[in-house]
Amino acid sequence: MGLEEQVPSGILLSTVEAVAGYARKGSLWPATFGLACCAIEMMGTAAGRFDIARFGMEPFRASPRQADLMIVAGRVSQKMAPVLRQVYDQMPEPKWVLSMGVCASSGGMFNNYAIVQGVDHVVPVDIYLPGCPPRPEMLLNAIITLHEQIGRMPLGVNREQAVRAAEEAALAS
Ligand code: SF4
Repeated sequence: MGLEEQVPSGILLSTVEAVAGYARKGSLWPATFGLACCAIEMMGTAAGRFDIARFGMEPFRASPRQADLMIVAGRVSQKMAPVLRQVYDQMPEPKWVLSMGVCASSGGMFNNYAIVQGVDHVVPVDIYLPGCPPRPEMLLNAIITLHEQIGRMPLGVNREQAVRAAEEAALAS
């Protein structure tokens, strides 16, 4: 007889990692951090029509020390890059980064000296969202995809090292 058949009904079996992943993905708190036009769509995502609160994410935190998701919404200027990194460093682990829009991900149309050509030069990025600007529905879809990643994340992993290793592996292949 299998273990599932021996335990009384009403008892759920799981792992600590699965429970931690479930709790983490259901309580992401984004940092209040908008850089350009993409931020308007990010703000729209938090409003009543799209209602990001359905995913346990209603409080955009004014302090990075209370946030675990950085949504990089807009192009990153060279002057802003150190500030962005400082905000990221102030967020406690575990934390995640979503690059919103083509400008944040690659510089987009701003191929010039003033704009960082991809925010992954400054912070490790977990998920890239294309578009100019991405609509709130697209941002919600990226967040749901990120939830799946977070739910599978093992405990005790150094996320930044894991992201960098995945990037290097992708470049080498
Ligand atoms: Fe603005 Fe488009 Fe760049 Fe977003 S991707 S910051 S909407 S120009």
